[in-house]
Amino acid sequence: MKIIRNSNQLVKYIKVYGSNIGFIPTMGGLHKGHLSLITKAKHKKVKTVVSIFVNPKQFNNKKDFISYPRNIKNDIKILKKIKPNVVFIPKKSEIYKKKTKIKIKIDKFSKLLCGKFRPNHFEGVVDVIDRFLKLIKPKYIFLGIKDFQQLWLIKNYIKYKHKTKVIPCKTIRYKDGMALSTRNYLLSNDDKEIGSNIYKIIKRNKSLINNKNYNQIIIKLKKKIIEIGANKIDYLEIIDLKTNKKINNKTKTYKIFIAYYIKKVRLIDNI
Ligand code: AMP
Repeated sequence: MKIIRNSNQLVKYIKVYGSNIGFIPTMGGLHKGHLSLITKAKHKKVKTVVSIFVNPKQFNNKKDFISYPRNIKNDIKILKKIKPNVVFIPKKSEIYKKKTKIKIKIDKFSKLLCGKFRPNHFEGVVDVIDRFLKLIKPKYIFLGIKDFQQLWLIKNYIKYKHKTKVIPCKTIRYKDGMALSTRNYLLSNDDKEIGSNIYKIIKRNKSLINNKNYNQIIIKLKKKIIEIGANKIDYLEIIDLKTNKKINNKTKTYKIFIAYYIKKVRLIDNI
């Protein structure tokens, strides 16, 4: 496992791999969700490059950027067990050497769900991924379905711009249901129990939804989620996965998307 902090050095080091690379971008604060992405990459028989970079451009709120959990020492300890080929830990100046001349333009799906509450968040995400892909030129990029909107927007953006194929990876959850997340490091066990109860109530109601009872179910779920212990709900929406819009009578597959707070910690999931 080679640790690299400089982008020129990275390009030099991975040159021998050609495009036989699986790239796993992360913001550190690693957990088993991240590790499942690395394991999946290893199964593809490619060289694995993991990045750890808390991208300031995707944080619309400075406080959130500052309080985002970081623990590089522990990350490296964890990675040493799973042994990716390369861990890239750049400074901000390594990634934002060149100012992008063209503004990143992404699909209008970026304005819904998290995009409504975090202006320019997805532009920041897609921008940094675009920079990483130009540098690393991997065959595959591994992204978690946990961040469904992010995955969709990256896939949509890169399909004509890069040769890299997106590999979606399933959400890893605690036994009780709550999705693993770096932000969970800010939660107590009791808080996590609230998270798992929220997961369970959404899951239980999912199969009951149709386009007629849509609004009632949303109202009922929101009320219940606050009763269970969420501090605030940014959104709870049911989205048709074919159209990325509200469900209708033709909807075949849909998901419930949620962003909510436990104390001051913002969490997202899709079920
Ligand atoms: P992050 O460090 O939060 O930016 O996440 C890095 C990658 O790990 C993203 O592709 C996430 O979607 C993915 N990821 C985060 N949490 C999970 C999880 N619980 N299960 C699977 N993948 C995850």
